[in-house]
Amino acid sequence: MAPSHALRCCKRALNWVPVLFINLVIGWSYYAYVIELCVYTIPNNTERICYLVVFHICLIMFIWSYWKTIWVTPAEPSKAFSLPRVEKDQFEKEERAEVQQEILKKVVRNLPVYTRTAGGAVPYCNSCQVIKPDRCHHCSTCERCVLKMDHHCPWVNNCVGFSNYKFFILFLGYASLYCAVICATVMQYFIKFWKKLLPETHAKFHILFLFFVAALFFISIISLLSYHLWLVAKNRTTIEAFRAPVFTNGPDKNGFSLGFKRNVAEVFGDQAKYWFFPVFSSLGDGHSFVTRLVHIDPETANSILQQNGKRLVKYFE
Ligand SMILES: [Zn+2]
Ligand SMILES: [Zn+2]
Repeated sequence: MAPSHALRCCKRALNWVPVLFINLVIGWSYYAYVIELCVYTIPNNTERICYLVVFHICLIMFIWSYWKTIWVTPAEPSKAFSLPRVEKDQFEKEERAEVQQEILKKVVRNLPVYTRTAGGAVPYCNSCQVIKPDRCHHCSTCERCVLKMDHHCPWVNNCVGFSNYKFFILFLGYASLYCAVICATVMQYFIKFWKKLLPETHAKFHILFLFFVAALFFISIISLLSYHLWLVAKNRTTIEAFRAPVFTNGPDKNGFSLGFKRNVAEVFGDQAKYWFFPVFSSLGDGHSFVTRLVHIDPETANSILQQNGKRLVKYFE
């Protein structure tokens, strides 16, 4: 085996460590809750059954959305975004960047690509040899271009993007709920152990830790969830929140926003019955998005940009 290949395999295996860690925590929390709390500590049968039913519903939804986020392959740009053979040959032979840009500009005219790089160039990925659709970015960890890329998440060892963003939000939502249910139901036993009202058994250690770990995870996950819900409402990806997308007529942080209702529908779909299940229901194909500025006349675009404190500058055409 070549050393570079061995190194790559090693890196790939290491990428799974955070996922393994999360799975071990879930496994231990299951044992601590079901066996140590429900079987050994709770004296009342009705309470035990109620807790177990609610706990298992949350756990199933949490694991289901977590696994969907991990295993859904991030969608890549379709063949339509590759250069046609003739242009590709010209592009590869050409060494001058400005002539390469001219070739890309000619091809992009037939594609629904309205964003540009910060320098005003047509976004092209040299590794994947493809014109990047709007909101698409190259992930160096996944070694591919990912449609509507949000970020690469080490906790799921996958890119969060167009194909799994809804699953990711649900994963955060159900993970918070799972932790909240544990905290709420364990609280009274946690206090009883603390006040020494229950016998000193090995369950004590598990229940004390279960409360602390669930509370800690709840606080961190709920903050991340709130941030992503805000991004959904604004129709921005994490990348766009840090750097406003640049359109053919200028940068605009709200360029993809279509109003609260339509922004939410873009991620969760327009049928409420699918919103809370990790099944794909996002709208669109991930390649093209409705943008506020490029489909309207320049005067209206200008007034929108002025509201944002910017002027319409035709600096790319
Ligand atoms: Zn790429
Ligand atoms: Zn990635």
